[in-house]
Amino acid sequence: MTEFPFLQIALPVPLPQAFDYLAPQDGDAVPVGARVLVPFGRRNLVGVVVGRSQRSEVPGGRLLRVSRLLDSGDPLLDDRLIDLLRWCWKYYKHAPGEVIASALPPALRKANGVLPDPPLQFRLTAQGREILGQPPGRARVQRKMLESMEAGPVDERALGGIGSQWRKTLAVLMDRGSVRSEPVTPDQPHISPGPQLTGEQQKAVDDIQAASGNFSCHLLDGVTGSGKTEVYMHLLEKVLTAGGQALVLVPEIGLTPQLLRRFRERLGLDPSVIHSSLSAGERLGAWTAARAGRAALVVGTRSALFTPMPQLGLIILDEEHDASFKQQDGFRYSARDIAVKRAAELDIPVVLGSATPSLESLRNAGVGRYRWHKLRRRATSVALPAWRVLDLRQQQTFHGLAAATLDTVNETLGRGEQVMVFLNRRGYAPVLMCQQCGWHGSCERCDANLTWHRSRGLLCCHHCGSQRQASVLCPECRADALTGAGEGTQQLEESLEQRFPGFPVLRFDRDRVRRKGVMDQQIEQVRLGEPCLLVGTQMLAKGHHFPGVTLVVIVNIDQALYSADFRALERMGQMILQVAGRAGRMEKAGTVILQTLHPDHPALQLLLSKGYEAYARWLLDERVSAGLPPAGYQAMLRAEAHDRSLVEQFLNRAANIFPSGEATVHGPMPAIMERVSGRSRMYLVLQCSSRSALHRQVDPWLPRLRKLAAARKVRWAIDIDPQEL
Ligand code: ADP
Ligand code: ZN
Ligand code: ZN
Repeated sequence: MTEFPFLQIALPVPLPQAFDYLAPQDGDAVPVGARVLVPFGRRNLVGVVVGRSQRSEVPGGRLLRVSRLLDSGDPLLDDRLIDLLRWCWKYYKHAPGEVIASALPPALRKANGVLPDPPLQFRLTAQGREILGQPPGRARVQRKMLESMEAGPVDERALGGIGSQWRKTLAVLMDRGSVRSEPVTPDQPHISPGPQLTGEQQKAVDDIQAASGNFSCHLLDGVTGSGKTEVYMHLLEKVLTAGGQALVLVPEIGLTPQLLRRFRERLGLDPSVIHSSLSAGERLGAWTAARAGRAALVVGTRSALFTPMPQLGLIILDEEHDASFKQQDGFRYSARDIAVKRAAELDIPVVLGSATPSLESLRNAGVGRYRWHKLRRRATSVALPAWRVLDLRQQQTFHGLAAATLDTVNETLGRGEQVMVFLNRRGYAPVLMCQQCGWHGSCERCDANLTWHRSRGLLCCHHCGSQRQASVLCPECRADALTGAGEGTQQLEESLEQRFPGFPVLRFDRDRVRRKGVMDQQIEQVRLGEPCLLVGTQMLAKGHHFPGVTLVVIVNIDQALYSADFRALERMGQMILQVAGRAGRMEKAGTVILQTLHPDHPALQLLLSKGYEAYARWLLDERVSAGLPPAGYQAMLRAEAHDRSLVEQFLNRAANIFPSGEATVHGPMPAIMERVSGRSRMYLVLQCSSRSALHRQVDPWLPRLRKLAAARKVRWAIDIDPQEL
């Protein structure tokens, strides 16, 4: 150890390097991956050792010493995870300390956070069994506790159900030697058989399994309902019964009770759930169980990606095209790309599943980098839906719904079936508008219209969160002529309620399901199968299957057809198919109505006549000819400030000093929504046909950017493989 006296420590500061320290005085060995407390300026910070070295560039006299090692036992993060994280901070060019922090549960980012002791379970001793054999005496609670252990050991959680005094009772029984404690046993799967796999499913399972034991990346490209989840469960079964661990990542709104229930029922164990809205204690518990190897199956969102799992044997990423896998602030990583990297480092398979794969993954599959498994038929006899494009130019509309749409809704409800009305709310939110002078509420701090929340009488900005009371008279011309314009979910809900009295209208959007339980309750109601209307946003497009829904109405898709974002058409296609895939049951094919002012748009025509694969291939060809991702590689220098000229100045200077080479600089240009919270947002795009050439130019550029005087007047960040413009 002494040949490597210098420790490199990642600290939670937004600086681009790790810091050198000397090992603590008391001579404790400080391994890589360990958590330490170090002096930094006037503070003490929690850091993680990410390397050791023979020399340091810091002059000896100025080197400080680690104050202490924070955890005993094995280092918190193992070497392979540290290697992965190091790759991340180099690739994404983000502060090491912040990258490392994303691998620690919040509780352990603080010095007083401690790794909890391994949980215990309790089992009967021979003496305990003997007592159970005797006739019950007066100590009823004690007996109840002993009985609960009759079939096998139980953990604290289960004992808690026995009564408020359970700890006391347990202590008495342990004192008497009727019960003894031991560490809880790791999760054991108890597999229940699933349906007989279809030919396509079986082939995918066999191919993926044949590749196990080595790194391989698989694109499971299967239409909704083709049984991808069933394929996952077969793969999980193999890994878990062999004593391995598995990690399943899902989009932010994909983590549904339905999915967890399916895992529980088929695999016979409780998945450990990890996502960012858990309490600090829950998060710590799940993380610790995964790290100790007790948690066999971890299911989580993006933030679960870095969970330490010593026996990890399989990674699955469901709905791999979903935008929520890319973090959009701070450490802007792609969980999909890092999942593939992690699997490669560990030499294990990774499965990316989607009904509408991203162009990135389709390209990788197309060139043979990923293996491509296609599930083209639905697993059950549910037919794929029929499409109907409704030309809004030829229709009278009522609150955004065409007359012909309303007729079809009416017929569907009349047949006792359910209807889903989907609104891509972005840009279609209802605004309050003056019919006299054309005034409409817009945010003073953002380039956004204020959304009118009629029931609360508020005008809200969905970008910066500012709110104000809606006035009765027009603030501009004082006329009593304010009305709602544009369609929002609330307005649709109200107009559908008026139009179809007697049929419940269930709204699914962020405002409605904010209250706990509302989502589940409404889903239960839909599942009862009575005719009803579902109105909602993106939330309806993921995770749930509504077998009683036979008609889906997509209110308006036109914004995507003419967007400035080159990914808009890709996202539109994904959205349409995802929404459509929610519906339909055994006997009946569903119908999907698409309302548009541009029924002849070639993209729409292609999508509907040839399907997603052909559509994606066409989009990919376009990207190739334009050199855009995934045919080329991008990085983005983002900057923002209240004063637009400072942003421009910084980006212009930055563009001027960009090293010459293959990669080219474009911009500065304004973000699609330029002003948010009063700040102007602009960016430079750096683009190249070669990923490594791009990075070779960006790497030496960043230290020079930091030295620019103009850099200190703006907020700026580098975004590698950006997804949002
Ligand atoms: P996906 O994940 O592709 O949307 P699922 O795995 O959820 O598809 O399957 C859709 C439905 O079909 C589920 O109800 C599932 O239980 C059923 N299913 C899947 N595979 C089979 C199969 N081989 N035989 C019968 N039913 C199946
Ligand atoms: Zn007015
Ligand atoms: Zn705003």
